[in-house]
Amino acid sequence: MSESVDEGARERYRVLFLEKLEESIKNKTDHLNVVMKNAYDFLIEEVEKAKSTKNKITLQYRRVSRFDVLVIGDTKRLVARGEKVKYFLPMEEIFDVIESSHISIGHGGRDRMKQEISKKYANITIDMINIYLAMCETCQKKDLVKKEWYQSLSCIQNIIADVKLILSTCKQNPINSTSSFSTTRII
Ligand SMILES: [Zn+2]
Repeated sequence: MSESVDEGARERYRVLFLEKLEESIKNKTDHLNVVMKNAYDFLIEEVEKAKSTKNKITLQYRRVSRFDVLVIGDTKRLVARGEKVKYFLPMEEIFDVIESSHISIGHGGRDRMKQEISKKYANITIDMINIYLAMCETCQKKDLVKKEWYQSLSCIQNIIADVKLILSTCKQNPINSTSSFSTTRII
C-alpha cells in the first residue's frame, strides 16, 4: 500500500483542503451545494420528514424535488433525485473522493477527474478539484518541469529569432560583409 506512506502529511493536506474549501464557499453568493457533516445529517432528517409530510410547505417541496435519502446498512446518504444514483457528500468526505479519483486515473487532469467523479457524485465541483490539484505535490512537480522545459524552449526560439534577424540585416545591408570580404581577398 504505497498510499499509506505518509499518513501524517495526508492528514495535513486533508485539513488544509477543508480550510480552503470553507474559504471558497464563504465567497460564494450563489447556491450552496456542500455542508458539514452535522448540517448534512440534519438535511437528511429534513428530507425524510418532507417525504412523509402530506401537506408540504414550499421548502419541503423543494427538498423533495432535489434530494432523496438512500439507506445503506445502518448509514443514510443524501442522493440527488434522478434516474441514476448520485451521492451528495458532506464536506469532510470530499477530499478522499477527489484524491482516490485523481490517483486511480494516474494523476489525471481536472477535466478527466470531473468526468469520472460526476458519474457517482452530485456535489463535487471544478473549484473543489482545483483546490485539490494545487496541493498535489506530484502534479506540482510535473508542472514545474513542464514550465522549465517551456522556458528553455522559448529561450531557444528567442536565440533563433535573433540569428534570423542578424542574417536578414546582413542580406539587406551587404556593404560591411562583402566589402570587408573583398578587401581581404585583394590583400
Ligand atoms: Zn497529482
